[in-house]
Amino acid sequence: MEFRDLKTQYQVLKDRINPAIEKVMTDCNFISGQQVKDLEKRLAEYVGVKHCITCANGTDALTLVLMAWGIGKGDAVFVPDFTFFASGEVVSFEGATPVFVDVCPDTFNMDPDSLAEAVAKVKEEGILTPKVVIPVDLFGLPYDADRINAIAHENGMKVLEDGAQGFGGSYKGRRACSLGDAATTSFFPAKPLGCYGDGGAIFVNDDETATLIDSLRIHGKGSFKYDNVRIGMNSRLDTIQAAILNIKMDAFEEYELDKVNEAASTYTKLLEGKVKTPIVPEGFYSSWAQYTIQLKDEKERNELQQKLKVNGIPSMVYYPKPMHMQQAFNGLKQYVSLDVTEKLCKVVLALPMHPYHKGNQIIEITDLV
Ligand SMILES: *Cc1c(COP(=O)(O)O)cnc(C)c1O
Repeated sequence: MEFRDLKTQYQVLKDRINPAIEKVMTDCNFISGQQVKDLEKRLAEYVGVKHCITCANGTDALTLVLMAWGIGKGDAVFVPDFTFFASGEVVSFEGATPVFVDVCPDTFNMDPDSLAEAVAKVKEEGILTPKVVIPVDLFGLPYDADRINAIAHENGMKVLEDGAQGFGGSYKGRRACSLGDAATTSFFPAKPLGCYGDGGAIFVNDDETATLIDSLRIHGKGSFKYDNVRIGMNSRLDTIQAAILNIKMDAFEEYELDKVNEAASTYTKLLEGKVKTPIVPEGFYSSWAQYTIQLKDEKERNELQQKLKVNGIPSMVYYPKPMHMQQAFNGLKQYVSLDVTEKLCKVVLALPMHPYHKGNQIIEITDLV
């Protein structure tokens, strides 16, 4: 069994994907081809923002926004303690300081109360300047946008939505990746919308920021390619990846999102009352990057993972370590309690989740659980 069945997805889409790849090779427009522009236009419309700027991966996407906003030394950037490393890595990479915030035990997403407390403590201490909040749409569920955005904006901060796992979800009728002052996503193969390598995108409404990010992603270009007005990066999405994504986006819109939501409902129906199942609050829609259950304790979790493994069923622990315990973040000050994250890291287990489950696969899994 596959944890995320990209092999079946390819077999289903092969007749459309292969010619799309071949066209790029025939035309040799490998960099910045028309397919990239088509994809950017389509994704901006889908998400409901004015600009989509694609780039090389989801980590660069976050970095490019922080660069455009001028974030650096002395700035505090608030990041959930329970997320993939990149959400905090980009902050340190820009020379700013990540301040880790706890998450809600039911949604796995940034806890607004913990954020408010962390912001108050940083201000009271008076060393760092609060500048940005990076809420993450973890496992496909959008963050609590109304509450988090209000706290950020009241304190003069911007919101950078890390939608690497959230693309396709929605919150009160608004699509994920449109919920912050800027948002990013990743097209890493296992994400809700994945390509066949690395890829990423930035979503922003503001024209000036969009122009700046477009310059930063191509060596700080000015009016033309060999006019360089600032220090930037080389971070573009390959035409081949855009061509693949244009096809995959059809399937994503036509049936894949529905299918993962059906799979999640089946899981929850069969597991409810036996283990703690993931919660999608009223007004939220998830794109189910992961279906994550919670066990009683670490021992029970590890035993279940082993039992699934001997029965040929893959499962994953996302994430085994809180951000504040990563060696790379040694020496950073902890401002608030991070107990929920510490507990989640011991009890979470992600089960196979994708739009291509066959026959009784989910029943086979839930019977073992
Ligand atoms: C995958 C991921 C990223 C980074 O995306 P890449 O394309 O792998 O660079 C950032 N944040 C979160 C939450 C992710 O899951």
